Amino acid sequence: MSTERPVRVRFAPSPTGPLHIGGVRTALYNYLLARKHGGTMILRIEDTDQNRFVPGAEQYIMESLKWVGIEIDEGIEQGGPHAPYRQSERKPMYAQYAYDMIEKGYAYYAFDTEEDIEQMRKRLEASKMQPAYDSVSRMSMKNSLTLPADEVKARLERGDNYVIRIKLPRKEEVRFHDVIRGWVVVNTSTMDDKVLLKGDGMPTYHLANVVDDYLMGISHVIRGEEWLPSAPLHVMLYRYLGWEEVMPQFAHLPLLLKPEGNGKLSKRDGDRLGFPVFPLQWTDPKTNEVSSGYKESGYYPEAVTNMLALLGWHPSGNQEMFSMEDLIAEFSLERVSKSGAKFDLQKALWFNQQYLQQKPLNEQYEILKPMIEAKGYDVCQEYVEQVVVLMREKVQFAKDVVEEGYYFFEAPKEYDQEVVRKKWKAETNTHILGLAQAFEGLAADAAAELYENAFKQYCETAGIKTGEVLQPLRVAVSGAPMGPPIWDMIALIGKDYVLPRLREAAAKIQPAVA
Ligand code: GLU
Repeated sequence: MSTERPVRVRFAPSPTGPLHIGGVRTALYNYLLARKHGGTMILRIEDTDQNRFVPGAEQYIMESLKWVGIEIDEGIEQGGPHAPYRQSERKPMYAQYAYDMIEKGYAYYAFDTEEDIEQMRKRLEASKMQPAYDSVSRMSMKNSLTLPADEVKARLERGDNYVIRIKLPRKEEVRFHDVIRGWVVVNTSTMDDKVLLKGDGMPTYHLANVVDDYLMGISHVIRGEEWLPSAPLHVMLYRYLGWEEVMPQFAHLPLLLKPEGNGKLSKRDGDRLGFPVFPLQWTDPKTNEVSSGYKESGYYPEAVTNMLALLGWHPSGNQEMFSMEDLIAEFSLERVSKSGAKFDLQKALWFNQQYLQQKPLNEQYEILKPMIEAKGYDVCQEYVEQVVVLMREKVQFAKDVVEEGYYFFEAPKEYDQEVVRKKWKAETNTHILGLAQAFEGLAADAAAELYENAFKQYCETAGIKTGEVLQPLRVAVSGAPMGPPIWDMIALIGKDYVLPRLREAAAKIQPAVA
């Protein structure tokens, strides 16, 4: 490991759609390594495949990274010493490397038409061989290895369409060290002669990726496991381009798996099991289909970051709660596991709840303020903060404080039917009215225990068990069968609102128990 080398890492997404949550994790691990070593985090947009370009995806990627707190040092917005950071704008830089490889005998021109390739595939399949353009099959194709030199020259002069392919040796071991997986050994006999430069002069992913990693001085390539099969080819490119000395360290991250544990986590799993697989909400520009995002579903970015960090990486101790700063201090690629990490929805909710409980109240207020204003509730900050204190043990999302705890802000419109059916006797409404009267003597801001005392006294005088009216009282005030401790709830809502609610409930609810 070249320890002296400054840490320069890149997140290199292709703008082919919304960034998957697994992609956010890749970006996060890159970022953590960069920050831990005082290095540089680069965002490079790999958009050489114009057919797969999706409008809005690039903006979406940048907004998502910002939302989870990943800061980019060099990129399309920030600029930097290696600008431009969008591969389509770097197009003229790549071809020379492919021609250089031809000159050195490591690549060749291939003039085959699509039909030629199709026929070759069929022929190989028929004889039960790998249908690949490789060190064996290339000898029966139309390329600068098989055609006479003057024909190659004539074709080039004529402007015939061609691609440039890497010329891999027939049988040679490619070995490289992956920080997570250890030594990886692949024989070139299992690899094909990948296209490096396409007919339109655009580089393929492989060429552009390696050239840019070299030019941008990348020290570590941290990316998803799906790129592991490409790594041996990249190693060969480094060798053929004479850059092996400065080849980055590779680290291929484990897959993010479905909650059941088999197969890669997909958008369909999210739809099926009801959780987002994208950081932000995404509207498909073609179909207008909307996919949910963590942000809009009410997750805190800190909770998402914390959850993602632990999906594949293990800290040295048992700590589970990690701020970004803690993660930066603790992170190391050596503690990333080889095996896939199962997505766990319950854990995601748990993290969100932990952050809900920990977040300072004034921050909670800022988060809830727009929701409260949208609903037209006229309440002060202090009141909202006290609602949060009462509700945060019970809910997983900040928005639930307002949605589930609606009764802190408005009188119930409905009353829980099950409680009415099981508990509302002929005399219940009389007791509800009696309680209203019992609370009448309390101050507008009376404390919880004063309500409790008044309630107990009323029950004693009326000769009833507290259990007979306690739940009806809750339902009359809130409409809901459960919630925060009843006396705290009543005291916070306050006498001026509680008394009218009791009278209204007594007038509206029909006794159901004979
Ligand atoms: N453009 C590739 C992607 O979309 C980058 C893979 C890599 O990091 O080398 O994931």
